[in-house]
Formats: sequence, C-alpha cells, structure tokens
Amino acid sequence: MAKDFLKDAKDEYDVVVIGSGLGGLTSANILARQGYSVLLLEHHYQLGGMATWFKRRGGHIFDISLHGFPHGMIKSCRKYWTKDIADSIVQLKGVRFENPQFSLRTTFDRQDFTRILQETFSVPKETVDAFFDKARSMNFFDEQEKTVGELFEEFFPGRGDVVRLLMEPITYANGSTLEDPAITYGIVFSNFMQKGVYTFEGGTDALVGKMKDELIRNGVDLRIRTLVEKIEVTDDRKVQAVVVNGRRIKCRAVVSNANLKSTILNMVGEEHFDKSYIEETNAVRLNSSSCQVYMALKPGEGFDESCGDLLFHSEHNGFDIDAILSMDVSSRTFSFYYPNTRPGSDRWMIVSSTNANYRDWADLSEEDYQAAKKHLEETTLDCLEKYVPDIRSKLDYIEAATPKTFERYTRHIAGSSFGTKFEGLQVSKDLPTQINGLYHAGSVGIIMSGWLGAVNYGVIVSNDVDKYLTQPEVN
Ligand SMILES: Cc1cc2nc3c(=O)[nH]c(=O)nc-3n(C[C@H](O)[C@H](O)[C@H](O)COP(=O)(O)OP(=O)(O)OC[C@H]3O[C@@H](n4cnc5c(N)ncnc54)[C@H](O)[C@@H]3O)c2cc1C
Repeated sequence: MAKDFLKDAKDEYDVVVIGSGLGGLTSANILARQGYSVLLLEHHYQLGGMATWFKRRGGHIFDISLHGFPHGMIKSCRKYWTKDIADSIVQLKGVRFENPQFSLRTTFDRQDFTRILQETFSVPKETVDAFFDKARSMNFFDEQEKTVGELFEEFFPGRGDVVRLLMEPITYANGSTLEDPAITYGIVFSNFMQKGVYTFEGGTDALVGKMKDELIRNGVDLRIRTLVEKIEVTDDRKVQAVVVNGRRIKCRAVVSNANLKSTILNMVGEEHFDKSYIEETNAVRLNSSSCQVYMALKPGEGFDESCGDLLFHSEHNGFDIDAILSMDVSSRTFSFYYPNTRPGSDRWMIVSSTNANYRDWADLSEEDYQAAKKHLEETTLDCLEKYVPDIRSKLDYIEAATPKTFERYTRHIAGSSFGTKFEGLQVSKDLPTQINGLYHAGSVGIIMSGWLGAVNYGVIVSNDVDKYLTQPEVN
C-alpha cells in the first residue's frame, strides 16, 4: 500500500505553508514561534527548494545553490533562525575574474572594488564613490524607470569593461540584465558590496538539517512528498483549505512558496481574481533558468588554492546577455569547494554554473537532450583544464543539470532559477488584497530572490500573516 505522507496530520491548521524553499521555511518558522499551528507541505523528498544538495556514489555531496550570498544573511539567520546557524556563515575571499578584457582577484566588497576601479580601470575616485552611493541609496519607492544599462551609462559611459566587472556577477547571482530596472541592481549589488560574499560552512545539508530541527522544536508539522493540488477559497474570496495528496485540510491562511504564477493560475484558479489582476499575472515574465555541471575529484586529489572560491570565467568579448544564456557556452561561474566546506571531509568538488534558456533544452528530443548534456560536461572539462590541469585524470564523478532538472525538482515554471522579473513583486505583494488570507513568499522581482532575498521575503510575509490572523473579524 502507498505510504501516507499525511498520516496523523490534523484536519485544520492556522497556517499552511506550501513549499519548503528558504522563503517558505522562514515563514513557517516565524509563524510557529508566534504560536500558530503551522503545516508545511513540500512535494519533494527533501526540504530546501533550490537550497538543496544531492549525494552520489563514493560519498560525494554536491551543493546546488551554495555559491555565495551577502553578509545580511548572518543577521537574518540570527534573528529569525538560530545563533548556531548564523555562526556557521563564513566569508569567501577568493573571487576571481578571467575574461578577454581583464584578469583580477577581489574580495568583492566596496573597499576592494573602489581600489580596482581606480587602479585597474582608471576611474576617478569621485565617480566610483558617486556610483556606490547612488546604488546604495536606491529603494523600492525610487522611480523605477531607469534601467541598469542607463545607470551604468550615467557613471561609466562607453566603458564595457567596467560594466562587465560590475554586472557579470550579479547576472549570475539573480539572472538580471541591463534592461531590468536599475533599482534591482542597486539593491542586490549594494548588499554584496557591504561586506563581500559569504557561504554556509557545513554545506546545504547541514543548514537545512539545522532549520528542520528548529522547525520541529517550534512545533511545525513538516511533511515531505506532499503535492498541493488546490488552494480552496470561498465565494467571498477568503482562503479556507488546501487539497494535498487528495486530502482536504482546512486553514485560516496560506503562504505559498511555490511559483507565483502557478499559485495564482493553477492552484487557486483565475475565476477567483479580478480580471485586471489576472492580466497583470499573465504579463509577469519569468526569470532565466540554469545549467550546472557537478564534478567530484578522486579522494586524495585536489586543486590549487589559487583557483579561488568563485571564478567568473568568460571567453566572450564584453558583457552580452544572449551569449551568457546561449547553449553554446562561453561564460561559466566555477565554484571551488575545498574540504573545509564540510569540515572533516576530504573531498574537493567543483560546480560550474551557467544561466540558460528553458526552451533551448525543453524542446530537444530525448536523444538530443542526452547528447547536449554530455556535450556540456565535456566542454566544461575542456574549459576547466586551464585552471585544474589534468582535471580528467583527477575526476571521480561528473553529472549535469539543465533547466528541465530545476523544473522537475522545484516545480518552477520553465525551471526559473531566480523567480520572476521585477513586475512579479507587485503581483506577489497584491495577492492578499485579492484573496483574504492568501500570501506568496518566494523569489520574485529579482530583489526578493537568492538566499537572502527569499529569507527576508519570508520574514515580511509572516508578519503580514500575523497581522491578518489577529484581526477580530478573522477570529
Ligand atoms: C543553479 C542555481 C544557483 C543559485 N545560486 C545561488 C547563490 O549562490 N546564492 C544565492 O543567494 N542564491 C542562489 N540561487 C537562487 C536561490 O537558490 C533561490 O532564489 C532561493 O533558494 C529560492 O527560495 P524560494 O523561497 O523562492 O523557494 P524555492 O527554492 O523556489 O522553493 C520552492 C519550493 O516549493 C515547492 N513546491 C512548489 N510547488 C509545490 C506544490 N504544489 N506543493 C508542494 N510544494 C511545492 C518546491 O518543491 C520547492 O521546494 C541559485 C539558484 C539556482 C537554480
């Protein structure tokens, strides 16, 4: 008989959280701490969403999205998770760029970038300072007309090399382009520049394990392999239940951490919303997807520390978003994982990430798809030879993931790695104005994506849910 993953679940909760990405996990934790009964439903067999890992023969553990996040994660984790989690966050100091325009190493913070922009790119200090101040002063209420490209043109006209330095890492971090609103760049770039790039020592499995322990301590009812099919709302537009694995569970509020568009269009259904809101939802553009190649070295083999931690490699002339997304890969970000990623381990791993277009991969026949994956692995190894000579003889295991992989495991439409473009943020924020008690917390609007954005959005939304649930008319 099939296992019942909802065995002993109650018939009713204060809040149901759909999805266990960092946004969903954080909302669930805060709401449970506040004393609400919370049911967390995750369709996958593992918690974490994109913040995930997988194990392969030979004891290898690969991290999917643990490449780097801003310093702000320490504060958010201390406040909304545990001191223990915050204390495991450490800085990555070896960020490296190798491309036809420049070759440099940096700690990726304001001080070091100021030095590099002056010394290597001959930009006057006043211009650098003015740019940093402008980027840092941007907030959500600023005019949103200016694009990232226009922002760069204002400060560094005609300087493709400077644009590449400033833009390429952010494009890898959140899929943004020169056409996106400048505010999305300003916020994310400034978050990183504040104090550099950070990682979680112990690996994603340790982080999510600690989060799971904390959720259980706070009384969250956690359920994996539970796919929410429907969010039920009343005729007067109020959340009343979810349907999951064929069972109906009542609730007073729902936080959906699932894809914004599938939450609205598939799980609720457009008939429950204003026509204009559905038009806005349909107009939301999804962000790009990713490909990755995971490589594990044979036990005892390693690479030189000069590889750094994060290496932005490109063979392309200048910053070019089409080239970055192309299947004919010319730009890659390599994450070098030393044994101290998981203290006590003797494993050296490398993950190569590229941004990708879903359709390029989804439209291939099975035979062509497998061949394209193999080609991606081989060309990645060719490229890596430059930094890790003899990589092929040192290699113990290699595997590739594509947009289809991300779609399958997270159910994000088109395998979107970083949620939606900017317009998705307003639609996400407006959800509770359409349906009482229905909230969305997950990667949207570029700003609310990445590990920090997802956690912080989870915090904001849980506060809104608390306000809603304490209104006299809801009780
Ligand atoms: C290759 C790659 C590299 C990345 N690298 C970085 C990085 O270095 N630094 C960084 O900060 N960010 C990185 N990111 C982005 C970051 O991982 C994500 O923005 C963040 O983890 C997303 O969190 P989220 O809360 O939006 O939820 P998601 O992680 O998107 O999770 C949503 C969850 O909802 C579940 N779900 C969906 N539908 C249902 C349903 N109907 N029923 C039940 N469950 C459902 C899914 O299974 C999933 O677990 C990377 C992303 C990718 C893909």
